[in-house]
Amino acid sequence: MRRFKLGVGGLVLSLGAGCAANKPAANDTTIAASEQTDTEPATPGETGSPGETGSPDETGSPDETGEAPYTGPLNVLVVLVDTLRADHIQSMGYPVENTPNLLAWSEDAVIFERMISQDKNTTPSLSSIFTGLWPSTHGCCGQGQGQPDHAFETMAEIFQASGYLTATLYKAAALDDWGDFWEGFDERHLVPGDNVDGHSAEELTDYTVAWLEAASERDEPFFAFVHYLDPHLPYRAPDEYYERFVPADNTSTLDGTPEQMNELFATPGYTITDDDIERMLALYDGEIAYWDEHFGRVLDALEGLAIDDRTVVAILADHGDQFYEHANWSHLQYHQEVIHVPLLLRVPGVEGRRVTDRVQTIDLPPTLADLTGVTPAASWPGRSLAGAMVGEALAPTDILVGDADAHAFINKDGLKYILHQPTPNGVRLYDLEVDPLEENDLVQNVELLDQMRAEAAAAIAAAEALRAELLDE
Ligand SMILES: [Zn+2]
Repeated sequence: MRRFKLGVGGLVLSLGAGCAANKPAANDTTIAASEQTDTEPATPGETGSPGETGSPDETGSPDETGEAPYTGPLNVLVVLVDTLRADHIQSMGYPVENTPNLLAWSEDAVIFERMISQDKNTTPSLSSIFTGLWPSTHGCCGQGQGQPDHAFETMAEIFQASGYLTATLYKAAALDDWGDFWEGFDERHLVPGDNVDGHSAEELTDYTVAWLEAASERDEPFFAFVHYLDPHLPYRAPDEYYERFVPADNTSTLDGTPEQMNELFATPGYTITDDDIERMLALYDGEIAYWDEHFGRVLDALEGLAIDDRTVVAILADHGDQFYEHANWSHLQYHQEVIHVPLLLRVPGVEGRRVTDRVQTIDLPPTLADLTGVTPAASWPGRSLAGAMVGEALAPTDILVGDADAHAFINKDGLKYILHQPTPNGVRLYDLEVDPLEENDLVQNVELLDQMRAEAAAAIAAAEALRAELLDE
């Protein structure tokens, strides 16, 4: 029998002290789904209304405005910004003014400064976000290869089973036939309209704002996943943003399209210049600024609809991008510029802070379940970060990125082993604690290399064993 907790109770139990705005609801009891009306999901008024089920002290004292704090179920809005590097947002200290809206909003957010994505490609990374599993477990390995199996319980499914309206809104047509990928979503919205030059934040935002308006009218809480594409190649933001960050003295002729870069970089005798890299980065920042401008409208909508006090918002990316830090562009390698992604979580009643512990994509589903009081899937190997959001220490953990054929493995000490395939000499070794930019390859240290290779192999074996175990059930 599936069991779940209602409303904000799970949040309070998880976060404990330091979360005064979210007093425990008096009816913070675990109830069986079968005790609920079959088709009637939990509504805010039914779950922890002050005075109805407990004393005022237990249900939330009136605040200075005279209104009792909201104690019903929390909505969840996950905003994924494809190809957004962690170090290219102002909230992470990036000096270019490309994300002012995110920066202002993130003053009240918990910023996970060392978040690692489970893959360097979109579909395996998204599959890990949805299933809470490593690529070697869910089986979507490599871009566009395979799909998560029906057998794996997804984040959307657990929210759906707990009475949430679940919806995904996106502009990537390539994801539209990604069947099992979308398990658990009541609604799938491939937002119409061409992605001219790859930019679509305006249309997606228009659609998302309209969707939020409609969803806010409904009784049940929502779990929505919004996938922005913009920072991904081509780096062709609309005119207003396109060259905004390109220095006046830059002489590169790159136009931001991968076709031109492919052609130019393949030209015999051509050596990429500092101006080329500077321009690529500037065009990329233009895309991010364009996204931020429209993302700001989503934030305005949450506030305007008065649901910002009852909505958990998570911002993250599926991977970053490379600008010749390691002799490559796009996102072809498991270097930090590709797998270090943003994670910002804003939860009503939780103060903003920075978390420096290393965390990973597969931690997101159990975290969102914990914050909302929804029962996590038993199959999820990740851990809830809710405690870390209020200052509790997180134990160091191993992180596996990618699959058996090509991967990165970061151990508890911050040592990172990379197996790039099929490139020759594809093994790399770094100490992220002293070399976060991966400039000093330790691969000549044979003893350390053997140790890390063995640790990575064990992690992959564990991920594959979990797959066998889950498919066997
Ligand atoms: Zn992607």
